[in-house]
Formats: sequence, C-alpha cells, structure tokens
Amino acid sequence: MQKVSALREERLLSIVVPCYNEEACLDATVARLKSLCAELRPLEVELIFVDDGSQDRTREILKGYAVEDRRIRIIGLARNFGHQLAVTAGIDAARGDAIVLIDGDLQDPPEVIPKMVARWREGFDVVYGRRTERAGESTFKLATARIFYRLLNKLSDVPIPLDTGDFRLMSRQVADTLRAMPERDRFVRGMVSWVGFKQTALSYQRAARFAGASKYPLRKMVRFATDGILSFSTKPLQMAVALGMLSASVALLGIIYALTLRIFTDLWVEGWTALFIAVMFVGGAQLLCIGILGEYIGRIYSEVKKRPLYVVQESIGLEDRDPVLAT
Ligand code: UDP
Ligand code: MG
Repeated sequence: MQKVSALREERLLSIVVPCYNEEACLDATVARLKSLCAELRPLEVELIFVDDGSQDRTREILKGYAVEDRRIRIIGLARNFGHQLAVTAGIDAARGDAIVLIDGDLQDPPEVIPKMVARWREGFDVVYGRRTERAGESTFKLATARIFYRLLNKLSDVPIPLDTGDFRLMSRQVADTLRAMPERDRFVRGMVSWVGFKQTALSYQRAARFAGASKYPLRKMVRFATDGILSFSTKPLQMAVALGMLSASVALLGIIYALTLRIFTDLWVEGWTALFIAVMFVGGAQLLCIGILGEYIGRIYSEVKKRPLYVVQESIGLEDRDPVLAT
C-alpha cells in the first residue's frame, strides 16, 4: 500500500469552488487562490468554479477571469442545484491528482491548502478541515450545527467526523469512488467518510464570510440536515417502530382499562379525557411514522427516476472533455 502512495502522480491539483450569488466575494477569492497557485509550484493547479445558477453577476465575473487565466475553469449549472450538487459537478469535472473543496466566501482559509497537500504527500487520501473556531456565525447556527453533527454521529452507521465542513482534500482514488456513487441526495462530507481509505484531520479557524450573506437559509439548512441523517441512517425507521410499539402498549393498557370499566362498573361513560388523549397520541404517532416512511419513499422515488444529478448549461476551459453530465 505504501508503495502505491509513493508512486502516486502529483502533477495537478484541482480546487473546486462552488459559488452561488458570490459577486461580492469573487474578486478577493480569485486573488487569494491565484497567489496560492504560485505557492504550490511545481504542483500545477486548476481552479474550477461552479456557478450554481447565480442570479447576480457571478458568472460574468468568472468568465472575465477565465479569459485572462487558463487555470480558471467554469462550470455554469442551468439553475440553482444546491451546494452539494455544485460540489459534485466540480468533482466530476476535476482532472487533478488530488481535489480540494473550498467555499467561495473565504470562510475556509486558502492558506490551509498547502498543509493539506503536505499531508496528502505523506500518503493520506482524505485530509479534512476541522473547525476549531467559527467567527461571524450566529449563536443559533453554531448551536444547531453542534447538535446536528452529534445527532448525525449517533444515528449514522459510519462515523462522520464532528465539526467538519466540505473543506477538504481528497485523492484521485477517493474522487473516483465518489463519482461511482450514483445517489441523488448527496451529503458529500458523509460520503467521503463512508468511502474509507486513510483519512486525517487538520484543524483550522473558520473565518467570517468575506462579504455578502449566507446562502444557507433555515430552509436549506433543514433540508441539508435531513439529507445527512436520512442518507446515512435507517435508524429513524427503527425509532418509528419503537414509537409505534410504545403507543400500542399504552393503547393496550387503555383498552383493558376501558373494558374493565365497561364490564364491571357503571362508570363507563366517563373517561372522556383518557379517550381523547389516546386518540390524539395514536393519531400523532401514526402521522409521524407515516411521515418518516414517506421521507424514505420520496428518496426511493427520486432515485428511481434516474434524472441527472445536475445540468450543465455551459462549461469554460473544460472543452477538451466530454460534456459533464452525470450518468
Ligand atoms: N452555495 C452554492 N449553492 C447554494 C448555496 C451555497 O453553491 O445553493 C455555495 C456558496 O456560494 C458558498 C458555499 O456554497 O461558496 C457555502 O455556502 P454559504 O457560505 O452560504 O454557507 P455557510 O458558510 O453560511 O454555511
Ligand atoms: Mg460560508
């Protein structure tokens, strides 16, 4: 195994940057990444910007940069497909011997990338960034993220490292494995953990967003968290069964109680409260379980449709490749 990693090709590094309405950040991001390219020499770098259907001038600005610098490549998605699919499109298009995923808002400091490359050279296949501090985030976001990662780890069948984002380096082999995973609900950081190989963490301080506002409103955060949990665990189904059994047991006690009253006493017209509670409880439990089932069935449905994961409207600088449409 060691031999294999020693023989690994180390010519090209791909840096994948998903961008959604990032016009305010792009100049700074591009400048920082370009100066990083010089630092990484002799390793060559390609910068793949994925424009995730931005409504602002993001694509225009990127095109301007691509004209003057051949290392800059652009994938323009046909609409907003979401962060995880934008990252997927970038990984699919990347040609590097290693691939780095980094946010476009400079929250992940590019200066960490050379350290990631160094660990990769030591033979690690995945070097993920672990946030020790997160500046400029609301208490609500910090608290919900904390709870989410801990809950996810409790539920998930594979351990997913705590407090990590998508800021990470992965080897070509890991990227190829990810590309062979056709699932629709892509929770990339979990998928990378699932793959295995030699993984290591690198701590860094997460900065505040350079400019603009977060592109993750509460709605997207909830979707992201549900995707994470449902794609990596079937425990909610087991919980539904447990809840069903609990409510059935309580219901059984209620039935015995009601029958006893009915047969042996003349108090049976009373007990409306108990009846009400029982109906409400069983009804609620049923709805919850049906909802959980529905979430999984919805996922099966979208898998079965086999639509492409994302649609590329245009790509620049990647012409010598097949059109990047996921199969
Ligand atoms: N992003 C994207 N598509 C989306 C939402 C976000 O490509 O639908 C990108 C965004 O431009 C940024 C990264 O994903 O580069 C992380 O998003 P953001 O910084 O808004 O999330 P936060 O850091 O607030 O969790
Ligand atoms: Mg951000």
